[in-house]
Parts: sequence; structure tokens; C-alpha cells
Amino acid sequence: MGKYSADKRDIYYRMAKVDGYRARSAYKLIQIHEKFNIFAGVKRCVDLCGAPGSWSQVLHRYLHKDLNPDNWDEIRIVSVDIQAMAPMAGVVTIQGDITRMSTAHEIIGHFCGSAADLVVCDGAPDVTGLHDIDTYIQSELLLSAINITTHVLKTGGTFVAKIFRGKDVSLLWTQLKIFFAEVIITKPKSSRNSSIEAFAVCRHYCPPEDYKPFLFNSFVDQKCDQYFQDMNNGSNEHIIPFMSCGDLSSFDSDRSYPLNIETHESVLRVVLGVVLVSIVMASGCVSGYLGGIFHRVSEFFRV
Ligand code: SAM
Repeated sequence: MGKYSADKRDIYYRMAKVDGYRARSAYKLIQIHEKFNIFAGVKRCVDLCGAPGSWSQVLHRYLHKDLNPDNWDEIRIVSVDIQAMAPMAGVVTIQGDITRMSTAHEIIGHFCGSAADLVVCDGAPDVTGLHDIDTYIQSELLLSAINITTHVLKTGGTFVAKIFRGKDVSLLWTQLKIFFAEVIITKPKSSRNSSIEAFAVCRHYCPPEDYKPFLFNSFVDQKCDQYFQDMNNGSNEHIIPFMSCGDLSSFDSDRSYPLNIETHESVLRVVLGVVLVSIVMASGCVSGYLGGIFHRVSEFFRV
């Protein structure tokens, strides 16, 4: 929740107070729903990085709103965050890091064999102010969210995730399109223009036929090598083979060479010869000079 006076003047901050939401970000999810109707027919959903809980509150209110009260017990909302979250009626809360396998297993455990209709993720790292690092950590969080999603989302389901709209957004879109028939990047009105955040609304989950969901994080799990050894030409496999080409006799691309290397070498040889001859001549002069001095000294003593 906003602590500063600028936040307190913010209309969404004040609306959240009035509507009883724990954070102004509630309106981002509401506005995404108003535009894309993402809650239609949803009964089971996961809120990744959900603290303090305003998205889970929205999910709870909207999913119950359109459903016959007799069927309310079919609604299952699981909210996960690395930080502790105050309990919410009708929402299962898990304190866990979504980049850890153990958290993914815990979420999956709450679905007891049934898949989710919707997964939302508003995850954001603690911003360091170093743009590249923030974007990298955000991508890592998003990767973990996608990873978990491929385990719990039903075919045809929806995934909504916060992204940072950086220069690689087209690449991200292309990657998400591998798993979803429709991917739209959107920015709700309640998301500040000064923020680079946007949201990917991914619909109609349809993983490639040979895709095998896997759970590891390259930061914390050391099982990547084993995993890739176990994979057999599936669509997951994405280590590109690399073979070095050339040996030490080739030019080193980090050094600079003259355009005509042979002429350059001959010039070097001539320069070296001249230097050697000069040294020999100079040493002859020096020895002649020393010989003269020696001669005069011996003459002096003879007298
Ligand atoms: N959607 C939430 C709401 O409406 O109340 C707000 C989410 S807040 C913008 C981002 C959340 O991401 C923070 O609560 C933070 O603790 C969580 N987060 C960041 N890294 C995480 C991680 N690795 N695992 C789980 N949660 C994480």
C-alpha cells in the first residue's frame, strides 16, 4: 500500500481503501478482466506472488459473483508469495518462493489432480534501480511462473502475468506463443505510465505435443545437466550445439594485423638486421676506443 503523500492522492489508492482491497493493484486485474473477460467460467485459479492479497481478493469476489451459491465450494484459489500474507477467507495461502521446486510441488498438491482454469502472476522483485538487473530478475520470476503454470494449467486455460516492457518484449511474446494460441500485451489504466510494467494476457493454453513440463531453476537447482541428458529431441531441448573452429595457427581476432602481413614481416626482418649491424659496429668503436686508452696507460707506466 502506498505510504507517501503522492500515493495517498492517487485515485486507485483511495478507491482501494473504500472498496476494501489490500492494494491499489486490485484495479489492474479488474481492468484486465473488464477488457478480456478472463474470469468467465473460472473455478480454480492460482495467484502467484499474491501478497498482500488484493488480486486474490478480486478473484474471490468475482468468481463467487457469477456462480450459483450451491457451487461455491467448487471454487479453489491458491495464493503464493515469498512474504507472509494475512489470511483471507476462501483463499489457500502458501508462503514460498516461486523459483523453488518445493513451492511448485506445494501448489500442485492443492489441486489434487485437477488443473487450474486460470493462473495470474503479479510478481515483481525488489527493484534495485539497476535496470538490467531488475529486468533480468523479473524475467527469471516470469520463467518460474510459466514453469509452474505448465504443470497446473488446463489445456485451453488462461495465464496473465506482469512483464517489464523492455527491448526484448517481442522475443518474450514469441516464446509465450509457443504455449498459448493468443498472447496480448496490455497496460491497464491503473498501471502508472512512469512504470515499465505491462501484462501479458495469454489465452488458450496449448503446449507443443512433445512438451514435457519440468521443474528446476537454473539459479538454485543443479539438475539442469541431468535433465537435458534425459531429454530426447523434445521441444524442450534448447541447448544449441557449439563446436570451435580453427586452431592457434589462425589470426587472433582480438589482435590487429597489417593488411599485407608478408611485406610487414620482410620490413621487420630488414629493421632487425640494421639494428644488429649497428650494435656490432658500435661495439667495435667502443673496443677501439678502450684499446687506445689501454695503450696510452701502458706507455705512461713504461716511462
Ligand atoms: N498482486 C499483489 C496484490 O495485488 O496484492 C501484489 C504483488 S506485489 C506487486 C509483488 C509480489 O511479488 C511481492 O509481494 C513479492 O513478495 C512477490 N515476490 C517477489 N519475488 C517472489 C518470489 N521469488 N516468489 C514469490 N513471491 C515473490
